[in-house]
Amino acid sequence: MPSPSRPVLPLRPELAGLEPYGAPQLDVPVLLNVNENPYPPSDDVVADIAADVAVAARGLNRYPDRDFRALRVDLVDYLARESGVRLVPEQVWAANGSNEVMLHLLQAFGGPGRTVLSFAPTYSMYPEYARDTATAWVAGRREDDFTLDAAAAAAAIKEHTPSVVLLASPNNPTGTALPLATVEAVLAAAAAVEGGCVVVVDEAYGEFRRAGVPSALELLDGHPNLAVSRTMSKAFGLAGARVGYLAAAPALVDALRVVRLPYHLSAVTQAVARAALRHAPALMAQVGSLRAERDATVAWLRAQGFTVADSDANFALFGPFDDRHAVWQGLLDRGVLIREVGPDGWLRVSIGTPEEMTAFRDALVEVAGL
Ligand SMILES: *Cc1c(COP(=O)(O)O)cnc(C)c1O
Repeated sequence: MPSPSRPVLPLRPELAGLEPYGAPQLDVPVLLNVNENPYPPSDDVVADIAADVAVAARGLNRYPDRDFRALRVDLVDYLARESGVRLVPEQVWAANGSNEVMLHLLQAFGGPGRTVLSFAPTYSMYPEYARDTATAWVAGRREDDFTLDAAAAAAAIKEHTPSVVLLASPNNPTGTALPLATVEAVLAAAAAVEGGCVVVVDEAYGEFRRAGVPSALELLDGHPNLAVSRTMSKAFGLAGARVGYLAAAPALVDALRVVRLPYHLSAVTQAVARAALRHAPALMAQVGSLRAERDATVAWLRAQGFTVADSDANFALFGPFDDRHAVWQGLLDRGVLIREVGPDGWLRVSIGTPEEMTAFRDALVEVAGL
């Protein structure tokens, strides 16, 4: 019976009864659940960002630069320093988080009658982008150790003929990075799809990769169907600013320009991102210590008898637990919030400060009776 509290709304049937996505945001002392950088920006960086925001505020009666040209130039410089690959601004795109970049990709290259393929377990937002753009979602499988078999991936592409393949590297929630040979095999299979297929390598955790692990940015030259997505939310320590970006061939970027909303990147966001990029070395000063803390956490968990996925990211997936929810709850009761995500029986912990990791280990010893 319709009533003011239960109106009849023409909700898309596939959205009926669904809850919005998101990790619980709980106010506890130790937050190790959404892979943030635990170190806030320094006073210097804060002052510089604030000064640039003040300048931007003086122009807020005007719409911002729709094409954020200056920010793209800064991102090109940053990527050149970070990965050794020099692009041109026409190869870079940005949006409010790489989540929005992904949405742009599926708006341009997905849609009704088309398929997006990924390999599970992977980022839980991917099926939601597919759903929201009315694109069919197919999840291929990773191996038991969460690596991706190149031949199996190529076969899945041949079978499902997707218009988009999403590969997270390092993957979330497993932390596993893909060898470039695997990405190349996927690109070759994608090139054979009639009508074309865009391969997206989501490098949200790219800056945490171990020494010697290359970035897919190195494959951009010669692969017009490759898009490499990055974010300022993780290693960069700027999750609250909502800035994600992508590198690809200019023609691919041009397609994204068609589907974006006008002025999607506010003048304030552009100012914050540019000021932060000037301070990239300071903001990323802790990446080395976070990597070391990650390796120590993985080693400690293994020494306790857990299985832990190899991680090139700032988190570790560990298990198995008969009742992972009880363990998650037990940690939460001790003030430590981690994430119940991934295959059944596994838990994911983000890498925090040394003090936070001590709190995590102490709580886990109590809860798991180690
Ligand atoms: C955290 C994360 C992102 C980043 O999302 P933003 O919208 O940039 O904050 C993207 N991809 C994966 C796999 C992630 O885990």
